[in-house]
Amino acid sequence: MPEGPEIFLASRAAHAAVANQPITLELLHPALKQKARALRGASIARVHARSKAMLTEFSSGVVLYSHNQLYGEWVVHKAGEALLKRQVRLVVRTAQHQVVLYSATDFAWLQVGQEHAHPYIAKLGPEVLDAAVNADHIAKRLAQFPRRVIADALLDQHVLAGLGNYLRADILFVARIAPLRKIGSLSAADLLRVGKACKRLTQRSVERAGVTRPWAQYIATRSGLGYEASRFYAFDREGAPCWDCAAPIARVTQGGRGLFFCPRCQGSSA
Ligand SMILES: [Zn+2]
Repeated sequence: MPEGPEIFLASRAAHAAVANQPITLELLHPALKQKARALRGASIARVHARSKAMLTEFSSGVVLYSHNQLYGEWVVHKAGEALLKRQVRLVVRTAQHQVVLYSATDFAWLQVGQEHAHPYIAKLGPEVLDAAVNADHIAKRLAQFPRRVIADALLDQHVLAGLGNYLRADILFVARIAPLRKIGSLSAADLLRVGKACKRLTQRSVERAGVTRPWAQYIATRSGLGYEASRFYAFDREGAPCWDCAAPIARVTQGGRGLFFCPRCQGSSA
């Protein structure tokens, strides 16, 4: 499932392709077709993301909420390019682009300014990628959940919005926090390190399209390890040597998902 940075990048690409210009809109999913007449002649003012939901704001004041779930994907094609052989939910055509939403099934029509009332958005915590949310805000937000295991809290979109499995592993590696520790056992300085790592790694992931480590491409080329083996600090590296201390990266299963960490750099005790 894509994480916050991937949805953010998709929303930014879609926005750049369709906002504030003449469009033709093709609504194909049954939940979307009902609005076709009302949206005739409308343009799109803004496409943006809230956690894993995409919000497409029309000039008429209507907002399309869509959640990608597991299979949904927004793709920007050039005008005239063949679409993918997948379920097409909607197409926005401009003179130069076709922006297509594939496979998603979770839709709602909202009004501008009322997005926060949607049940999914209403439950979201502060958005890590939001420029108005800083490391200190994140540390204080986490401190409100002292009984939670830090690795679980980072994935819970109600606590913080926009993080997924690779980011939580790498954030805890960079912050040097054992993933199974309870938040209440962490100091204010520990939580501030987590907050700083949240900001830095999500921003880097946006800038480098899903890479959390600096110099990852350079290291991939120089070491011969390849891109996939070089893009993360700890995520998906079970048994591989820690970049900092060379101890093997460990993996535990927590809540059905793999959790990767360096027992030497981060400690292994809860
Ligand atoms: Zn290490």
